[in-house]
Amino acid sequence: MTEMKVQVVTPDGIKYDHRASMIIVGTPDGEMGIMPGHVNVIAPLTVHEMKVYRADQEKTINWVAVNGGIIEVKQNHITIIADSAERKRDIDIERAKRAKARAERELEEAQAQHSADQVRRAQVALQRAINRINVGNK
Ligand code: ATP
Repeated sequence: MTEMKVQVVTPDGIKYDHRASMIIVGTPDGEMGIMPGHVNVIAPLTVHEMKVYRADQEKTINWVAVNGGIIEVKQNHITIIADSAERKRDIDIERAKRAKARAERELEEAQAQHSADQVRRAQVALQRAINRINVGNK
């Protein structure tokens, strides 16, 4: 088997569904590359870009902003389950820039108020916005 099926599932539905010769995702231990024949695994994902080398179109690379979640690799079937995920072509960069500015303001306020919960929420929102901007600019 020289390819894998890659699906990204969110509460809004399937956001990505293609065949790949390799993918790279972000995990708490750093970037992880997965190729056909990879051992079966379930792992947490960070808010990070996913890079997909398409199996059907040589030289085509797809980028997806994956906003955390879980990856399951099972016999060359990869399923990523995330709260939200967007393909590069679907990202509204201006919206992400506004979200980034908002998250930065919220982070400052939360830090001033010593609110650990609010700090964590603002940090995650900031990571999501930065991830979208990065992917949108690929
Ligand atoms: P915003 O404050 O701009 O809504 P957010 O981080 O609060 O950003 P989420 O709650 O993560 O947004 O996502 C809500 C929905 O909007 C999801 O379906 C997500 O895919 C989509 N979405 C969020 N930001 C963008 C963006 N910049 N471009 C395209 N879709 C986006």
